Amino acid sequence: VKPAAFEYEDPAEVDEALALLGRHGEEAKVLAGGQSLVPLMNFRLARPGVLVDINRIRALDSLRLEDGTISVGALTRQARLERSPEIAARLPVLLEAVRLIGHSQIRNRGTVGGSVAHADPAAELPTLFAALDASFRVRSQRGERWVGWREFFVAPFVTALEPDELLVEVRASLPAEGCGWAFLEFARRHGDFALGGACALLHLAPDGTCGSASLALLAAGPTPYRADAAERALVGRAPDSRACQEAAALAVEGISPTGDIHGSAEYRKHLIQTLSRRALTAAAERATGGSRS
Ligand SMILES: Cc1cc2nc3c(=O)[nH]c(=O)nc-3n(C[C@H](O)[C@H](O)[C@H](O)COP(=O)(O)OP(=O)(O)OC[C@H]3O[C@@H](n4cnc5c(N)ncnc54)[C@H](O)[C@@H]3O)c2cc1C
Repeated sequence: VKPAAFEYEDPAEVDEALALLGRHGEEAKVLAGGQSLVPLMNFRLARPGVLVDINRIRALDSLRLEDGTISVGALTRQARLERSPEIAARLPVLLEAVRLIGHSQIRNRGTVGGSVAHADPAAELPTLFAALDASFRVRSQRGERWVGWREFFVAPFVTALEPDELLVEVRASLPAEGCGWAFLEFARRHGDFALGGACALLHLAPDGTCGSASLALLAAGPTPYRADAAERALVGRAPDSRACQEAAALAVEGISPTGDIHGSAEYRKHLIQTLSRRALTAAAERATGGSRS
């Protein structure tokens, strides 16, 4: 199937893109890597009147890890994160997450901003950014605002972005040195969207107890989900196998995964609990913040 007819614009500057989005409003759609939007257009599930192709806007392709912060431009390809020695050294959990996205051909085109703006609850990057407590910089002709991940993700495939707004940057604090990490998921075939997953970050205090814990769940509900109760239960406790098991059970208490032909809601809940336990255990093993009992 071919897409419905549309007008095509390819601005070279952010301001030009913002002017186009301001002028066309709901008629317009941003085209980044096209890995989600183009199939939707081909199936005529999306019928934008105007495509604003941002691929020529070089200012949006950036990656910086400095002063304890990671900043990624919206047009940065997923593959760039995968090949970055800085990411491998300083934020290996991001590398682990990115490698689980589709196939290398998709990651070569797919962008960080596209994945975030598409807001698929089974997508790896939104889950990872929830674990990192990321914020998103959004611009329009009306100005600029920062939106935290909890406000940004509203529902499946729905974000807080207004039709005239462009996502320009993702920013998050880097985990403390020695923080343990794991990003685990299960998909029926390599490259498929996962049926469930978990991202864990654990930082140990010198006495071996958890100083801080972050557990974000993938495909657990309508948006990326932080298992706040499980995190609270871990802080101040040694992350031994019993603690990880109890935290994983707490993590899935409030979730409502959607069942479909690939797996019932009950199966997915069980899967996410198992993956949470394994992710917490792996993160505890990788943490070097203190001695563990
Ligand atoms: C076969 C296949 C398998 C895949 N598997 C996975 C997977 O396992 N995990 C996963 O996470 N993803 C997967 N994807 C999707 C892939 O990661 C996409 O790249 C991503 O979801 C969208 O990024 P994009 O740059 O291609 O965005 P596009 O497809 O260009 O855009 C997606 C949406 O975001 C909007 N948008 C894009 N950029 C911006 C911006 N800067 N500001 C505002 N709005 C914007 C667009 O208007 C559109 O609505 C898969 C895709 C395919 C085709």
